[in-house]
Amino acid sequence: LAKERGKNNYQFYNDDLNQKLKRRLTIETRLYKAIDNRELSVHYHPQINLETGQLAGAEALLRWKTDIGPISPGEFIPIAEETGHIINIGEWVIRQSCRDIKQFRKRGLSRFPISVNISTKQLMHPHFIIRLKNIIHEEEIDPSLLTLEITESTLLFYEDAKENIIELRELGVGISLDDFGVGYSSLSMIKNIEIDELKIDQSFLIDALENKRVYSLLETIIEIGKKLDAKVVVEGVETAEQLELLLDKGVYGQGYFYTKPLSMHEFESWYDRFYKREERV
Ligand code: C2E
Ligand code: MG
Ligand code: MG
Ligand code: MG
Repeated sequence: LAKERGKNNYQFYNDDLNQKLKRRLTIETRLYKAIDNRELSVHYHPQINLETGQLAGAEALLRWKTDIGPISPGEFIPIAEETGHIINIGEWVIRQSCRDIKQFRKRGLSRFPISVNISTKQLMHPHFIIRLKNIIHEEEIDPSLLTLEITESTLLFYEDAKENIIELRELGVGISLDDFGVGYSSLSMIKNIEIDELKIDQSFLIDALENKRVYSLLETIIEIGKKLDAKVVVEGVETAEQLELLLDKGVYGQGYFYTKPLSMHEFESWYDRFYKREERV
């Protein structure tokens, strides 16, 4: 009997592994054609200046719709990074975001900054800066309207990425440190790199309501960001209580409390409603 069960367990394990491998292979092969098949789109997640209540910009978030359903960036971005696809896909996101900066301008948001997530592999690519320059030039974008979000894992490769980061600064593109506080060595990261924006990971906000120590930490991180002259963004504002906690702190917020990330089309009607609500208040 025990032998039977052991065999079954092995079978389960094997099926599970097979499923995972199949899924991964499906994603990997489809990813090659995702751009040509026009399956990718960029959604925008509004950033709100919590002190003034004004819309201050948006984060570009990649979306992938396939004939087997939507696949989340949490699932496909790591695969794109491992296979090197991220170089083409990432470039596509930057170009699309630059085009949309012009779309936002046409719709009355004349200086609407967009933040784009950048993988370490992208940032370290020898052609990254030249291609970025080309896109900015071709799309005729003011580089100061573009911010690139990098994460702390980039620090592990800091020596390799250093030159590109310096060139980014010279180009006038903003640099944002994403998911601050959950990586390896947050403080060494901001010691090495001059940043324009600090994004505090959602986990701090979630715990701050119930845990005084986390609340103190959150306050301290906000102060650090401000002392470094960085725009401080708190990620994942979901509830009115969380918002309340941040209102007097001079920070920016991003989260489902306001809206989920929106397509260009959805953005327009959300924006209209957002400002109507502001007028009523
Ligand atoms: P991220 O850069 O930290 O982006 C924030 C993520 O949190 C987004 O998930 C966003 O939808 C989600 N979020 C925002 N507000 C809330 C909230 O109030 N509650 C909750 N529960 N979630 C919230 P998303 O779009 O699934 O993206 C996941 C991650 O995938 C991103 O994390 C980023 O690391 C990566 N990613 C997305 N687009 C790109 C891209 O174009 N290039 C690269 N390299 N990475 C990307
Ligand atoms: Mg981000
Ligand atoms: Mg983040
Ligand atoms: Mg995150």
